[in-house]
Amino acid sequence: LVKASFDRIGEVDGEVQAFITLNEEKALEAAKELDASDDKDAKLFGIPCGIKDNIVTKELRTTCASQFLRNFNDPLYNATVVEKLGAEKAVNVGKLNMDEFAMGSTNENSSFAAVKNPWNTDYVPGGSSGGSAAAVAAGEVLFSLGTDTGGSIRQPASFCGVVGFKPTYGLVSRYGLVAFASSLDQIGPITRTVEDNARVLEVIAGNDKMDATSANLDIPEYTKALTGDVKGLKIAVPKEYIGEGVDPEVKEAVMNALKVYESLGATWEEVSLPHSDYAVAAYYLISSSEASANLARFDGVRYGVRSENAENMIDMFKKSRSEGFGEEVKRRIMLGTFALSSGYYDAYYKKAQQVRTLIKNDFENILEKFDVIMGPTSPTPAYKIGEVIDDPMTMYANDIMTVPVNLAGVPGISVPCGFSSEGMPIGLQIIGKHFDESTVYRAAHAFE
Ligand code: GLN
Repeated sequence: LVKASFDRIGEVDGEVQAFITLNEEKALEAAKELDASDDKDAKLFGIPCGIKDNIVTKELRTTCASQFLRNFNDPLYNATVVEKLGAEKAVNVGKLNMDEFAMGSTNENSSFAAVKNPWNTDYVPGGSSGGSAAAVAAGEVLFSLGTDTGGSIRQPASFCGVVGFKPTYGLVSRYGLVAFASSLDQIGPITRTVEDNARVLEVIAGNDKMDATSANLDIPEYTKALTGDVKGLKIAVPKEYIGEGVDPEVKEAVMNALKVYESLGATWEEVSLPHSDYAVAAYYLISSSEASANLARFDGVRYGVRSENAENMIDMFKKSRSEGFGEEVKRRIMLGTFALSSGYYDAYYKKAQQVRTLIKNDFENILEKFDVIMGPTSPTPAYKIGEVIDDPMTMYANDIMTVPVNLAGVPGISVPCGFSSEGMPIGLQIIGKHFDESTVYRAAHAFE
């Protein structure tokens, strides 16, 4: 399998560009060792996978798709999720392309190469985990890990016609994930099927003393929840997610999915998430504020490249950051620094936090009465390459259906539910209660 994975990468990745760094020698070696071992009941025995390049891998280059880290060749440790995959004998074939520091929705912010959508290479794969979604869609790996701060697993899964899951905040350890917005970031699996997804999440979930926000709960066997039975399942459909601004083909695909659920014995009702209009603004304020603090560690001293043109220490900080970060990352740092500065803190950051609480309450109120919430993952199918990159406000606005889920901390999956007339995949989003990933998987699996 590992050999087949590299063969496929050789065939298609010149065009798809899902990988930044390959781990060929070590992966083939590991596969050989596994062949000779008798560990064959490990949960992911010999399964080739790819890891998003903001997840630290020991002695394997980890760049966050940034020029700042292009020479970060030998991290000293593995992220907890990487250790857990290794313990169940998955084989890491390489590090996956992404928007720089996970900021973006199209992968065009990668400082290495823009990933192409395998369904049609004129289109973007989505972002920021575009490499993770494209690699699975193109058959280069059997699963990948992505990260989701405001939709970065679900939206590319939707654009690439694969299954992407953002777990409840705190379910999967963030130790070894390069932080973007620490109160929102979660790692999750991208796969072809819901069953594969549940299998990988079972392996990577669980308490970790190295992450103070990691929840201390027993992890159920999610694969056991895949009964095919959704009789009596109560589905809420927010009117804000199927109204104005949603592409008619996306709406039609979602309405058809709801009909399938009805035929399986589930019921659905229209509801309202009244604070939806404020979610994108609150998300970009909170995530950029946290990013401006988290990215302060990149100063040319401790990590990554150092500017060669500096005259003194302050100049070295400035020049390293000016040369190392791309345009979108700088935009976020400036936005976040502004929102946190004295005189503006109450008007922006504090307000955004208050809105976050209202949004969380909206979700909790609905999920008290319903088992799951459904709607589109994204208001549109994949964009053409170059279509929205010069218009950050439109790109931000299109995160409308994914960012509220991170603000509320609840779990959400994207499963394929149809195609646009241009042949591009459309995703159905299913959102559940805190730590009720089992119901989300059960619902997604029944539809698949
Ligand atoms: N598109 C969002 C952003 O640019 C989502 C990013 C993410 O989830 N990492 O912030």
